Amino acid sequence: MTKQKMGLTTKIMIGLVAGMVTGIILYNFPAGVLRDTIIIDGLFQLVGQLFLRAILMMVVPLVFVSLVNGSASMGDVKKLGRIGVRTVLFYLVTTAVAISIALGLASIVQPGVGLDLSEIVTREPSINEGVPLVEVLIDMIPRNPIAAMSSGNMLQIIVFAVFMGVGLSALGEKVKPIVSLFDQLNDLMMKMVGYVMLLAPYGVFALIARTFANEGFDVMIPLLKYMGTVITALIIHAVITYGGLLKGFTGLNPVRFFKKFLPAFSVAFSTASSGATLPVTMETVEERIGVSKNIASFTLPLGATINMDGTAIMQGAATIFIAQVYGIELTFAAIMTVILTATLASIGTAGVPGVGLIMLSMVLQSVGLPVEGIALIMGIDRLLDMSRTAINITGDAVCTAIIAKAEGEFDQSIFDADDTKTTTV
Ligand code: ASP
Repeated sequence: MTKQKMGLTTKIMIGLVAGMVTGIILYNFPAGVLRDTIIIDGLFQLVGQLFLRAILMMVVPLVFVSLVNGSASMGDVKKLGRIGVRTVLFYLVTTAVAISIALGLASIVQPGVGLDLSEIVTREPSINEGVPLVEVLIDMIPRNPIAAMSSGNMLQIIVFAVFMGVGLSALGEKVKPIVSLFDQLNDLMMKMVGYVMLLAPYGVFALIARTFANEGFDVMIPLLKYMGTVITALIIHAVITYGGLLKGFTGLNPVRFFKKFLPAFSVAFSTASSGATLPVTMETVEERIGVSKNIASFTLPLGATINMDGTAIMQGAATIFIAQVYGIELTFAAIMTVILTATLASIGTAGVPGVGLIMLSMVLQSVGLPVEGIALIMGIDRLLDMSRTAINITGDAVCTAIIAKAEGEFDQSIFDADDTKTTTV
């Protein structure tokens, strides 16, 4: 069966909007067995989780296979090193820019000034202590790669896979069958992702409808200023930073780029997990934007794990918000510390829902702000989590396109094609 790409994107977008509308309608419906047990926690939960599970199922094998394949097929270790350094630098710099935008905007908007706390502390925070940086670094090396895979520890899987790729690359001809095995396995993974994506419109609908049916808009009203700051900073970062970088480094039309990236963007928005979206991000970047498999299979899994610009934006805005709510003045040195810790925290933030909020505790502690402040924003974090995750993966895709262009691994005809390209399923 052949499926039109454009058809799928449109279907996902319809699922997204229909999910929001359905969720809001249900939220305003009286509670009862039909609404809660049968629809929200029955049907929506089932369809949403089936979809989520199906993509999650693909993540560990896909990251492992694609990174071994990506780093082995770079040709030589020097090229891998060059691309690796550029990618990590790009990720770190854009994250620092992202958080600076958030800090700047939050200082102007002053989201926390004049807020009455008593109304909005709805949940008790359950926050772990932030992990010290040294621990994060040590923990990158797995004691046992199989255990890393079975527990889904992405950083550890990345380290092992890249290491294996380097070894394969160095051995060259001798291990050609292994390299082509990984290449074929990679194709197989992408094929399976293609199947899962057929479920996307329904999965997206169910996940979004359930979120909105549970949260509604009411809880958000007192925090609108904070939410507005985060969302505006996300948009500024996407339009100016990403748009400017794309135009400046690649000459690609940013509007076309974002349009083509929509399927991944909407799946990230509805799952709030860059890790879970990874299979879709890879498919979109390779097959709709035109980045070669070599580059995408290296930079995207790395980005989904260490590059979280949207999360850094939330952390910047939240830090200013919490400081203002508690009437604490942040010095210039404190602001610099926030930029540094939030950039590092984004490396340690797992690409799963809500983790950015936990990592915020590390940022708050670094400048002596009360960690309890997180409780204030917990209630409304889901919508922001969805939005920042979409930006997190957009950053990965933009970096990937820039690196691919620089390395001559970009197929302009795919980018220029009007999405008549088909996925065969
Ligand atoms: N949900 C985000 C992601 O997966 C991480 C976070 O900010 O909580 O990218």
